[in-house]
Amino acid sequence: MRFDVTILGSNSAIPALQRNPTCQLVNVSDQYYLLDCGEGAQVQMRKYGVKFQRISCIFVSHLHGDHYFGLIGLLNTMHLLGRKKEISIFSPPGLQEIIELQLRSAHGSLRFEINFHTIELDELHQIHEDKYIKVHAVPVQHKITTFGYVIEEKPKVGNIKKGFIEKYKPSVESILKIKDGFDFYDTSGTLVPRMQIIAEPTPIRKYAFITDTKPSASYFEAIRNVNLLYHEATFTQENKKRATETKHSTAQQAAEVALKVGAKKLIIGHFSSRYTHLGPILEEAKKYFENTELAEEGRVFKVE
Ligand SMILES: [Zn+2]
Ligand SMILES: [Zn+2]
Repeated sequence: MRFDVTILGSNSAIPALQRNPTCQLVNVSDQYYLLDCGEGAQVQMRKYGVKFQRISCIFVSHLHGDHYFGLIGLLNTMHLLGRKKEISIFSPPGLQEIIELQLRSAHGSLRFEINFHTIELDELHQIHEDKYIKVHAVPVQHKITTFGYVIEEKPKVGNIKKGFIEKYKPSVESILKIKDGFDFYDTSGTLVPRMQIIAEPTPIRKYAFITDTKPSASYFEAIRNVNLLYHEATFTQENKKRATETKHSTAQQAAEVALKVGAKKLIIGHFSSRYTHLGPILEEAKKYFENTELAEEGRVFKVE
């Protein structure tokens, strides 16, 4: 099953040339989920061929503008393109009021419903589940209420073993029944338990999106052993003092988090505009966690 992340924006507060504020598209089996929606998000989607109307949920980390100023524009475009299907928006308190005020001020309403989900519980908890994924909100440590998100695929039924098919040549109907949870009886009426027929399912894959936070053990457990970790790295160690003051992380700190939690791969982003070249940020992180990549726009990372 497809499970990947496309970087649409990777910069912090002020946009830099070639770098837009935070926005990512998560594709799970061709279902689209948006993580943050910084200014310029919809232009980026156009650039990378993202079909707006496929987005079913938008998860906003916090209400600093670089994480949601693109939202009203995107919702308006969805309306103009004739969207009828509802959309769910998850965020800390305050976003619903802002969006509704913007819509009211334009004397308009949308053709589709917005289901606002305000996240208030200050602990790790599940906020969404559908046919494909489960999403947990993870409180992180920033200047205002901020949540990271962990997206995990739903468990899949393992495949039917090849050896079983070859030996018993079951009908399509029998295969469907096995997949539905039934055991199998051969032509002589002998039971073949389902456990012997179904192969072990592949392990569940997880993606963690952790932005705008100082490093803190408070969220480590929630992201333990994730396949792919996005962690903000606004600064290099040279600006560690600034990182501490603004409750952000350095590249070294992001890498240390990845190491501590046993992430398989790390993507760093939310770069300060002071960095024209990102090479030094990547180098710093790689010293502590080799499997690190930059969240450069247009890059697609598989969750594997
Ligand atoms: Zn930010
Ligand atoms: Zn912020």
